[in-house]
Amino acid sequence: MPFTANRDYKASPRIVASAKGMYYYDQQGRGILDGTAGLWCVPAGHSHPKIVEAVQQAIATLDYAPAFQMGHPAAFEFAEQLIEYTGHKFGQVFYTNSGSEAVDTAMKMVLAYHRARGEAQRTRFIGRERAYHGVGFGGMSVGGLPANRKQFGPLLQGVDYLRHTALPENRFSKGLPEHGAELADDLERLIQLHDVSTIAAVIVEPVSGSAGVILPPAGYLQRLRQLCDQHGILLIFDEVITGFGRLTTPFASDYFGVTPDLMTTAKGLTNGVVPMGAVFSHPKIYQTLTDSPAGIEFFHGYTYSGHPLACAAGLATLQVFKEEGILHHAAGMASYWESALHSLKGLPHVTDIRNLGLIGAIELETVPGKPGARAMAVYKKAFAEGVLIRTTGDIIALSPPLILDKSHIDVLFAKLHDILSHPESF
Ligand code: PMP
Repeated sequence: MPFTANRDYKASPRIVASAKGMYYYDQQGRGILDGTAGLWCVPAGHSHPKIVEAVQQAIATLDYAPAFQMGHPAAFEFAEQLIEYTGHKFGQVFYTNSGSEAVDTAMKMVLAYHRARGEAQRTRFIGRERAYHGVGFGGMSVGGLPANRKQFGPLLQGVDYLRHTALPENRFSKGLPEHGAELADDLERLIQLHDVSTIAAVIVEPVSGSAGVILPPAGYLQRLRQLCDQHGILLIFDEVITGFGRLTTPFASDYFGVTPDLMTTAKGLTNGVVPMGAVFSHPKIYQTLTDSPAGIEFFHGYTYSGHPLACAAGLATLQVFKEEGILHHAAGMASYWESALHSLKGLPHVTDIRNLGLIGAIELETVPGKPGARAMAVYKKAFAEGVLIRTTGDIIALSPPLILDKSHIDVLFAKLHDILSHPESF
């Protein structure tokens, strides 16, 4: 069981057997309201008929095409539509099978780019404390979650970290937190320390999810972009959770008006239906690599890169987004979501609440000596009572499908209100 305490799980297993729209269903047919869009990956709702049909058609037409010296039409069509969806802020797409692979791919692209430009000494990555960039060795190394690293030794060398932006003075902020843009100046400190000529790229999640929904202070990402430009450092946005509408814009880069050099995505890319990730890159990266004399410009790929089923699911997802105005709908729900979430302020053990787009976080006071136990107890109780939430440490993270309406918001927060009002039960 991934990221799961197997012994504990065996004692009280949770099984979902089917899903539709805003709901999972267990083996007895009991509905469970999905407050997390699976793992942030089902923005258009579960088992969407158009996506199901597209995948069924694809599997009957082309089951697999070698991602090696050949392509297939849907892979190119999808890439073109994706670039269009970014408003042509990026030039190329490289397919992977997951967010972790997208992160490692982007990191390799960065190294290849600097080498092709004659700056092979630029190998250092700057990550951030409390960041999550997946479980590949690259992503784990630039990630900043102690629990994800401690079992595995020293990891990639030459990585340093910005401080995280979870500041106590921003507690109970609504939308973007006010304080802390100056934390981006940490990059100056690291440049001084390591010499800029060794630094390849900075990687950040515009909004971090798995680490407990840490929001960027207003102006922070803009400042980071400025500093990277000033020093010839590439900027990677890991948009695995923020891509495809989570902030009610196509990407977080649209929301913040800050365009990175590379962007990693996954999850909502195919509405979670078929595993897929993708790296979006600025044309200068493709150009530099293709201008270099190497026979194969970027010696990297996966057997299942651009898998026909994933491309079909992705194309159908984009179509559903456009036809059903999913982002417009999500934008219309955001303020109702914010008010409902913040109505939990003042309940026992609630130490912080924060939100952005259709993301919410409720932070609970940790039981001394038992980190994560309180939130996990709430999670189990909520699941037993028909609502799926997610925990990370003692933070409850919420990220519903973007198709939810006010009645779903009411049910979700009424249930949480009820559970949190009875602290003796968790
Ligand atoms: N980056 C970020 C920001 C993520 O949130 C995640 C997954 N939660 C990943 C990378 C890894 O994606 P995957 O689980 O698909 O490998």
